[in-house]
Amino acid sequence: MSENESSASSNFIRKIIAGDLQQNLNEGRVHTRFPPEPNGYLHIGHAKSICLNFGLAKEYDGLCNLRFDDTNPEKEETEFVESIKQDVHWLGFDWQDREYYASDYFEQLYQFAVELIKKDKAYVDSLNADEIREYRGTLTQPGKESPHRNRSVDENLLMFKDMRAGKIEEGECVLRAKIDMSSPNINMRDPIIYRVRKAAHHRTGDSWCIYPMYDFTHCLSDAIESITHSVCTLEFEDHRALYDWVIDNLETPSRPRQYEFARLNLDYTVLSKRKLIELVKDKYVSGWDDPRMLTIAGIRRRGYTPAAIRDFCDRIGVTKSDTRIDMSVLENSLREDLDKSAPRVMAVLKPLKVVIENYPEDSEEELDAANHPQKPEMGTRKVPFSRTIFIEQDDFMEDAPKKFFRLAPGKEVRLRYAYFITCQEVIKDEQTGEIKELRCSYDPATRGGNAPDGRKVKGTLHWVSEKHALKSEVRLYDRLYTEANPEEGGRDSKEFLNPASIEILKDARVEPFLQNAKAEDRFQFERLGYFVADKEDWSPQSPVFNRAVTLRDTWGKLNKK
Ligand code: ATP
Ligand code: MG
Repeated sequence: MSENESSASSNFIRKIIAGDLQQNLNEGRVHTRFPPEPNGYLHIGHAKSICLNFGLAKEYDGLCNLRFDDTNPEKEETEFVESIKQDVHWLGFDWQDREYYASDYFEQLYQFAVELIKKDKAYVDSLNADEIREYRGTLTQPGKESPHRNRSVDENLLMFKDMRAGKIEEGECVLRAKIDMSSPNINMRDPIIYRVRKAAHHRTGDSWCIYPMYDFTHCLSDAIESITHSVCTLEFEDHRALYDWVIDNLETPSRPRQYEFARLNLDYTVLSKRKLIELVKDKYVSGWDDPRMLTIAGIRRRGYTPAAIRDFCDRIGVTKSDTRIDMSVLENSLREDLDKSAPRVMAVLKPLKVVIENYPEDSEEELDAANHPQKPEMGTRKVPFSRTIFIEQDDFMEDAPKKFFRLAPGKEVRLRYAYFITCQEVIKDEQTGEIKELRCSYDPATRGGNAPDGRKVKGTLHWVSEKHALKSEVRLYDRLYTEANPEEGGRDSKEFLNPASIEILKDARVEPFLQNAKAEDRFQFERLGYFVADKEDWSPQSPVFNRAVTLRDTWGKLNKK
């Protein structure tokens, strides 16, 4: 067991499972499931649930199913099913052959409903939706019984059959569980368990025109699959009584139990498929995998690794109380992972030309550069150097304050792996006054970046050789929203979209070593952050990199503003 796994083992669900195992409940089995509704792409909140459910199964030598909760014919699509499978696999989890669909259980669920009717525990109600709402009562007032509540078992059976046969229109009738209209828990006031929907389903086509509701489907799907621990988020806590009622009133193959944990809320983003769909449909983002989206597909394209996401889920832990997590926690998990594994290279995002006047015009050379400062086993590479190079515009100031340790007129700095250079002259555009290039001199004795006379320089700059560098597009990302909690108080989060959440640099230069990169390869651009070769747009002819994360936490500073 790794250190991470053992530290997380203190979470309350693990305690419950350990207790159950001690009593040999469920014959000592642990069987969980991850039950997404295929109505959108998965997001980082789902990753928390995936890591928890698959993680529990792994830790206790159990199994975890992937189950599509596909009871809503209008909103569900095959594209989403495929993306969910891809994302779960990419995160590093495997459901083997246990890929299930609630829609596979439609016949069994129908039979369970018939069983409830026969036990006089369900009835067909002819009240319309408004009336049902009215009769339901409120938190402070008990509900009223429907006038149809005491239909005979035979009549209910016949009407339910008619619902299935398509003889009843949408909204005309529903099937309700017969529980208690005065229960303090509104979920127990004769909840609807079936409704008529004359819509084609992505898997069952037109075979059904009645569809079971979530609360009826979920617990029975768990029971059919012999799930032992049905772990879900806190908003289902009040539904647990209904979960148990359904299971207890039917002859089910097994007795699953529901446990709730707090969902993940992350600052500066929204985590709800409904909101994410809006961003995609209304083209606020380029798609589900836009690198600013906190979908799994989005952060994958942004450059996140599965290991970083798993580490994040482990760190935030599993609790019963709702909290918001700072974005820096997620970014730190990525930094730590990439710090270990990403090769270091040099790239210049906003180039400023530097001509080294005393370097021979037709000459060039190759300098040795380490691929990782702490890991000699990652090897070295050759970086070409020549008379004309690019440095970062930000690394030069004409009227530099005292504390500016980078390049300024008359000042000497080190070019990483190369030479000391001194700025001799600033060439400007005569019309605009814009700095066009710098004229510098170099000290040939400082090859490799050290002066034999022991003189020191304060600044070390990254650079690329003009004629060797690859021109590249670099995309820099910022938070998608300007507010930490854009949904606070029911506000329309779209009003807080950050107009500066993406900056595209078309004239960046990267060292030629990156010619051999492949899509999704990750690098540290020295001093600039961690970058990934874009999954979709990368090609050796026109390289495109996304910044996954900066080198240091810029969020902490931001939050203190
Ligand atoms: P959304 O509101 O984004 O659509 P959902 O809960 O409706 O979320 P489902 O597809 O039903 O999405 O979720 C599948 C599983 O993932 C459920 O068990 C759910 O509890 C869990 N889940 C969803 N969002 C989060 C979250 N933010 N944090 C932790 N678990 C989550
Ligand atoms: Mg849902």
